[in-house]
Amino acid sequence: MTEVFKGVFTQQEPIPDAAIEAALRVLRSGRLHRYNLVGDEVGEVALLEREFADFVGARYALAVASGGYALATALRAVGVKPGDRVLTNAFTLAPVPGAIAGVGAVPVFVGVTADLTIDLADLEAKAGEARVLMLSHMRGHLADMDRLLEIARAHGLTVIEDCAHTMGATWKGRPSGRDGLIGCYSTQTYKHMNSGEGGILVTDDEEVMARATILSGSYMLYPRNGTVPPEEVFERVKYDTPNISGRMDHLRAAILRPQLAQLEAQCARWNERYRVVEDGLRGTPGLTIIERPEEEGFVGSSIQFLLLDWSEAGVKEVLSRCKTRGVELKWFGGARPEGFTSRYDSWRYAPSQTMPETDRILKGIVDMRLPLTFSPDDCALIARIIRAEVGAAWQAGQVAG
Ligand SMILES: *Cc1c(COP(=O)(O)O)cnc(C)c1O
Repeated sequence: MTEVFKGVFTQQEPIPDAAIEAALRVLRSGRLHRYNLVGDEVGEVALLEREFADFVGARYALAVASGGYALATALRAVGVKPGDRVLTNAFTLAPVPGAIAGVGAVPVFVGVTADLTIDLADLEAKAGEARVLMLSHMRGHLADMDRLLEIARAHGLTVIEDCAHTMGATWKGRPSGRDGLIGCYSTQTYKHMNSGEGGILVTDDEEVMARATILSGSYMLYPRNGTVPPEEVFERVKYDTPNISGRMDHLRAAILRPQLAQLEAQCARWNERYRVVEDGLRGTPGLTIIERPEEEGFVGSSIQFLLLDWSEAGVKEVLSRCKTRGVELKWFGGARPEGFTSRYDSWRYAPSQTMPETDRILKGIVDMRLPLTFSPDDCALIARIIRAEVGAAWQAGQVAG
């Protein structure tokens, strides 16, 4: 009998009851705007900022409208100007080069290794071309952060971290987002906390935080934020920093706070599922597992493997065979972007040189989401299906080699 998986790859868990109740309290109050407060009340958004700053051990956290907005705000807060070049990963998602282009700057793509992290040799080679690195921990894979910071220091690069896939992750115990000057997170539905849309920016730098706060649309109400730099810092920046509204509201913050309290437990559940799929795929001929470094405390909300040097027809055969059996895989190597997939050469607004080694890796990356609505047994079934179908495609001689 051929097993078929019946789960839905885009089905999230429900919002927790405590979050629904908190949301109802906000709705009943009618006071959804973050600065619509009574007396010296601390609103849901400010509380989320304090709690998130505590969670990652940052001095400051700012809740905003989206992860992409947090990235653009970070670029503006460090003074990136139109025409500036900004280093970023060739393997990332469209909002990352989009944030760079959105401030009029020019993305300079750095290659990807077979571990799916930024190629540090390529970074070192290109470090002289820019002042800022927007580092994307794409699909939750952390580069050797110690080595990366050494390169950044040696070349005077300011590092902004895109932690859309690493909220809750660590490198040698350091929370992801704390190695760079600024860490940016997303609370969009497909990330590790779900408020539909939303983002959080963290930093220890008081001037960056003051600028980011004004940029986010605080008006002169910034003392009501959750984590606030000293007034004299605002005095220095508040007259020459534009308001580019992108605030978070109380409703979304109310939904997020109970989720933050559960985040570590949720990360453990993701990793349990990840390890089941990883174990099930290990040893499949033609399929390369991405080994996770010991220093990395990752969050397995999605899993990737490589079909390295397979022909396009061979990869497509695997995808369609798996789909027939209910397993939805995404291929990042496709020539044309589909759904959420993308590669650096499909962002045609940005110049790109050819990167043969990166192209070879991108052509082989297969990606799968692991929603928490899947049980560990579901994950074992999914792995059996992928294993069988990769094996069948491999044997059918679909591989160009
Ligand atoms: C989702 C995502 C973002 C942007 O987050 P939004 O909240 O959707 O704007 C940035 N980087 C990566 C890698 C992402 O997956």
